[in-house]
Amino acid sequence: MMLLEIAVAAPIDQTLTYRLPVKISANPDGDGTISLIGRRVLVPLGGRKVTGYVLAEDVVASGEFKIRDIAEVLDVKPVFPCSLIALFRWISNYYHYPIGEVIRAALPAGMSPRSVRCLELVDSAREDERFLSLPDEKWRITLQEKGSLSAAATKELLASKVWKKTIQQFIKLGVLRLCESVTSDGVKEKMEVCYRLQHWLPQPSVDLPDESEIFQHYRRQLDAELGLELKLSEAKTLYYMKGLEEKSVDGTSPRKELLELYAGAAKGICDLKEKRLVTEQKKRVFRSPLGERLEFFPAPTELTDEQNVALAEIVPAIEQGGYTPFLLHGVTGSGKTEVYLQATAAALRQGKSVLVIVPEIALATQLEAHFVSRFGEQVVLLHSGLSASERFDQWSLAMSGEAKIVIGARSAIFAPLNDLGLIVVDEEHDAGLKQDDSLRYNGRDLAVVRAKQQGIVVLLASATPSVVSYHNALCGKYRLLTMDNRVGNRSLPKVTLIDLRKQQSSGKRSLFRPQLRKALEENFIAGRQSVILINRRGFSSNVLCQECGTPVQCRDCHVTLTLHRSTQQLLCHYCGYSVHEKTVCESCGSMQLVPVGFGTERVETELQEMLPLARVARLDTDTAKDRKAFLQTLKLMRGGEIDILVGTQMVAKGHHFPGVTLVGVVWADGGLAIPDYRAAEKTFQLITQVTGRAGRGDSPGEVYIQTMRPEHYAISLARTHSYRHLVEKELELRKNPAFPPFVRLVAIHIQGESEQDVERSASRIAAACRAAVKEKKSFVEILGPAPSPIDRVKKNYRWQVMIKAASIEILDALCSYVRQNQQELVSGRCKVMLDKDPENM
Ligand code: ADP
Ligand code: ZN
Ligand code: ZN
Repeated sequence: MMLLEIAVAAPIDQTLTYRLPVKISANPDGDGTISLIGRRVLVPLGGRKVTGYVLAEDVVASGEFKIRDIAEVLDVKPVFPCSLIALFRWISNYYHYPIGEVIRAALPAGMSPRSVRCLELVDSAREDERFLSLPDEKWRITLQEKGSLSAAATKELLASKVWKKTIQQFIKLGVLRLCESVTSDGVKEKMEVCYRLQHWLPQPSVDLPDESEIFQHYRRQLDAELGLELKLSEAKTLYYMKGLEEKSVDGTSPRKELLELYAGAAKGICDLKEKRLVTEQKKRVFRSPLGERLEFFPAPTELTDEQNVALAEIVPAIEQGGYTPFLLHGVTGSGKTEVYLQATAAALRQGKSVLVIVPEIALATQLEAHFVSRFGEQVVLLHSGLSASERFDQWSLAMSGEAKIVIGARSAIFAPLNDLGLIVVDEEHDAGLKQDDSLRYNGRDLAVVRAKQQGIVVLLASATPSVVSYHNALCGKYRLLTMDNRVGNRSLPKVTLIDLRKQQSSGKRSLFRPQLRKALEENFIAGRQSVILINRRGFSSNVLCQECGTPVQCRDCHVTLTLHRSTQQLLCHYCGYSVHEKTVCESCGSMQLVPVGFGTERVETELQEMLPLARVARLDTDTAKDRKAFLQTLKLMRGGEIDILVGTQMVAKGHHFPGVTLVGVVWADGGLAIPDYRAAEKTFQLITQVTGRAGRGDSPGEVYIQTMRPEHYAISLARTHSYRHLVEKELELRKNPAFPPFVRLVAIHIQGESEQDVERSASRIAAACRAAVKEKKSFVEILGPAPSPIDRVKKNYRWQVMIKAASIEILDALCSYVRQNQQELVSGRCKVMLDKDPENM
């Protein structure tokens, strides 16, 4: 009898041992897969049954625990490759997180047990596997062999009983899918049924003699059966679905009904296939999330010298195999994408697969077009902007080896690619690579770990690498590659600093000083595009009571509310709490509330007043909520249909807008006041990145930066594009007091609804840590306890303890200590969270 090592999806650090009883076959469908490793099982745990992930077989029992039987094998095939298991173990260990929950976080949500077309299994799904998404297969039917059926025969077929009976169900099968919407913390919110007609409709390229006839046909059928009018619009779709629900008043569930249909239709297709009347095709269609074809990018005729030099190091490393980490420091517009593409081609030539990680979904979409242009069908996208079903599909394609290239946001680091040959991390400095809730990992760091474990090449790249990564390169931990010049001899933009301390001469106070104003006007008149950065969304930064001076605060957080004029709201940027803009002062009841400070909305309004004819658009998390609208804005910008784009750091990141010749920063110093040892680094990165949006096309770029601190090194060095000086300065400053890279950090966050409990727990944790390190000889420092910079969010008080240590072992020992003694250390119902290598202080 076989014993299995299983990680259960529950808060348990260790893996558990279970037995595979004889009555359960490891190979129920006889598909030749023997190993259980990488598959999910259902196991008893306490009084429940939970999902478990098989990590090893034939293990030897240890200890005197009673070994229980697994209840069921859920998958016919592994859902993750063996090669990821070492990574899961590493993460669990390093981030002090239960291994089963690491795996659960890594797998795409809504994965159905077993693969396609296993109805009874979907139905028997239980416990945490309920509400599954059916894989969203796009079926296409083609009459057998083009032209082999005459028009008359076709007509006859369409009129035949089997066709009539089947097509209708097939339609439902093809266009209906169950999907779940999952909230960010993985809680299943609700199940919704989507109806996607457009994927199903016979397209002109499909070999159907008369598509309109078929459409009319099934439409009539559905109309007749459901008594509903069917149109191609979403509204009608919902109407149709509602119809199904209404039918369920008598107690039959629409879900069950769908599953029956599914089964019936699947059988019908088989019949038709057997009769060789139809063939079934599954074909991937490449579309952008806007539903359009992706833009095509031809390969350049020749590489730049610097690209050649970089690739002369990367390509042999890929060919030889073995762990080789590179840091590519390439200025904005130096052609880093082409380096990724060429390196990818080298890996593919070796039969290897490639993983590309980006900090932001919009950048994944931009890169996707380049990769699909070069490599076509082998590319898949993995990120949270996809629906659960889409993600499942992409995951399956990567798992099966059909897709050799995965592009995705940080979670794509778990992409189930076998035979990896290369991992690329674009914009490796970006905070977007860090996950900041639940499992707090950094996708860039995991890329290096995965590469090391699998003995492959990892390429970290940025125009402004993080100080820590650059330090690693200087120490020889990474191989440094440099591209100092833009492609095509384009120059880096000329940067002018505008000192905000100098009094404005006269007239109405404007957010734009005359120099920037004039440049904007001239650029607009010349028909060129501009980008304006202001790193705060909303209209104002604060709303103050004019009578008593009290700022309007969130009900549930210690945060002032921001005015959003477009929605007439005062909004909390931490929890989303909002009140109407016309509210009363909490402390004196006055209604005289005035906005102070400024954000993207106010900048947008002022620009529009200044240049009424200009097409001004805004890009921030408010406008990016609607992903389609967001991508549409980027597209309009690339197409030259926007004159001025205003936005937060979102506009700064990696976008390629060839028409932009002017960049303005409204207020560069905001980030310098933040209590974070990387404030200067981040400010430099932001300015350099936004500066890099200018002059990428045929005309050179210019940049104006408004600042109250022109002499601050982060700003003066950004003016001269002096990245290496910035690093030198930072490394100097971080020696004393010590900060990374010279020490390691862990933040312990304590939160709960009772302020007293939180404070008490934080104090106890800090005291316990201090006591534990008393005897330690190497450097370790315990800071706090202190309230977090934002000390109340969503009704929860937040405190933190920060630990700095020269050795990672000490940090780990303290983390384990706190977790093991959590019961005694924590009073009341407080939550303790560990954040290793914290990104946001
Ligand atoms: P980066 O990511 O380094 O900021 P990109 O990869 O976006 O820069 O490249 C900038 C522009 O230069 C793009 O339009 C790209 O197509 C073009 N480019 C890159 N390499 C070459 C080359 N060897 N020859 C001509 N154009 C190139
Ligand atoms: Zn007041
Ligand atoms: Zn709030």
